[in-house]
Amino acid sequence: MPTIFSHSMVGLAAGKIFQQSNKKRFWILSLICPAIPDADVIGWYFGVNYLDLFGHRGITHSIFFALLLGIIVWVIFFRKENMSRKNSLFLIIYFSLITMSHGILDGLTNGGEGVAFFAPFDNSRYFFPFTPIEVSPLNLGAFFGERGLQVILNELIWILIPVTVLVIIKFVIIKFKKMTYKIFSYLFRT
Ligand SMILES: [Zn+2]
Repeated sequence: MPTIFSHSMVGLAAGKIFQQSNKKRFWILSLICPAIPDADVIGWYFGVNYLDLFGHRGITHSIFFALLLGIIVWVIFFRKENMSRKNSLFLIIYFSLITMSHGILDGLTNGGEGVAFFAPFDNSRYFFPFTPIEVSPLNLGAFFGERGLQVILNELIWILIPVTVLVIIKFVIIKFKKMTYKIFSYLFRT
């Protein structure tokens, strides 16, 4: 996996880009949902094997789980808000996609086992053909030291800088739209 921090940063960036709500819970959930799939490591303490359905990178990293979590998050946190059907659907898709971003990033890492994208229907593990992301050590001890630094630099290049650039692009577009609107309304005012 990339580090939890990077997974959450993807959610934060997505929130900035697709912001639908200013509620605190929207932001907290945007940070938490992309990190939740790695809760599966708990299974190790109960003797679950890495390659089991409930093993690491198993069902919690699947498309099915991402969709389910998107729906659950909406039901628990947003259902009572009286939002339009379109906004509700948007939020379900949004939370599903940011959860799915976790499995996608794991599928781009160069170590560990693959991701069970199609669990529970098919427990095969997959990687993408292109795996530029350095796998992060799961135990914290190994994280400090040279290996940790390597992982952080790698995530900066492949995750943190790209998502920051996307957020900047979004804000530049908004500014540009506002400016052109101002210029046009100035030029064509009556
Ligand atoms: Zn993971």
